[in-house]
Amino acid sequence: MAAQILDGKSIATVIQDEIRDKVIDFIENNSFAPCLAAVLVGEDPASDVYVRNKQRACERVGIGSQLHRLPANVTEDDVLELVGKLNKSSEVHGILVQLPLPAAITGTRILDAIHPFKDVDAFHPENVGRISQDRPRFLPCTPHGVQQLLDRYEVPIAGKHVVIVGRSEIVGKPLAALLVARDSTRGPQAANATVTVCHSRTENLAEITRSADILVAAIGKPRFITADMIKPGAAVVDVGINRTSDGLVGDVDFAAVQEVAGYLTPVPGGVGPLTVTMLLDNTLKAAAYAL
Ligand code: NAP
Repeated sequence: MAAQILDGKSIATVIQDEIRDKVIDFIENNSFAPCLAAVLVGEDPASDVYVRNKQRACERVGIGSQLHRLPANVTEDDVLELVGKLNKSSEVHGILVQLPLPAAITGTRILDAIHPFKDVDAFHPENVGRISQDRPRFLPCTPHGVQQLLDRYEVPIAGKHVVIVGRSEIVGKPLAALLVARDSTRGPQAANATVTVCHSRTENLAEITRSADILVAAIGKPRFITADMIKPGAAVVDVGINRTSDGLVGDVDFAAVQEVAGYLTPVPGGVGPLTVTMLLDNTLKAAAYAL
């Protein structure tokens, strides 16, 4: 039987409706709207699309947004100066620096400069530390989106073996932290997993992935995860976004894996819409920290 498709787009709409209601309450109680400031450096067309999507999503739920564009040849100090201004601005509650930054700019220097209470991507070391100690301030957007998607489809997580392929700071590592935690925003059933994190030096990768009840691919290599790497009936979450001559494809060989897996996310329309949605959730939280 073909896998059930985990429809990220429709779950994102449901969550955005919930956020919109909370934003309406927030504005009624506090007389100001939450506001997200996006910083876009350079002319990367994919980054342009991502930022536009984030701004549109803000609009949909009643969150204000600002876009600060800087040219590709800007200095690190110029970016730091802008971040400093946004940190101080009482009109801005969340700050998002769109990645990747031009090679001449040290990403960590910029991200570390964002005030931890405005760090809606949850990249600041203080916020990452809080997550690893089970006392998060903000939750990382893509990992939180994956957790929401699985739990809203009632895919069992607690006690199950989750294998994550990829150990990035943005996806793999923080997702492992959320799923191994004792509790979650959805309750303990959406956490408490046994988590294995794999990477490019992992030996016997296919053997490990075949032991997964939930397999998450966050690699950045088109169709890398093949049907023989999947345990029949497993839930497969494809975080990958790869631009190929065939268009946008994930890290999972969708057509073949669909025949083996129990659940599968599409690309596009899987994890991507959840990432944007959880950013809105964090911006609302950031506005509450400003009270
Ligand atoms: P990344 O920083 O490039 O990390 C890729 C990870 O994959 C690394 O840990 C790497 O291992 C591992 N890897 C590479 N080749 C491998 C192999 N042959 N076997 C096993 N592991 C291998 O990427 P990322 O930022 O996590 O992004 C991953 C993908 O997700 C990209 O396609 C990106 O565009 C996409 N993404 C999507 C969303 C969304 O909202 N849907 C959000 C973020 C990212 P090493 O550490 O050993 O190098």
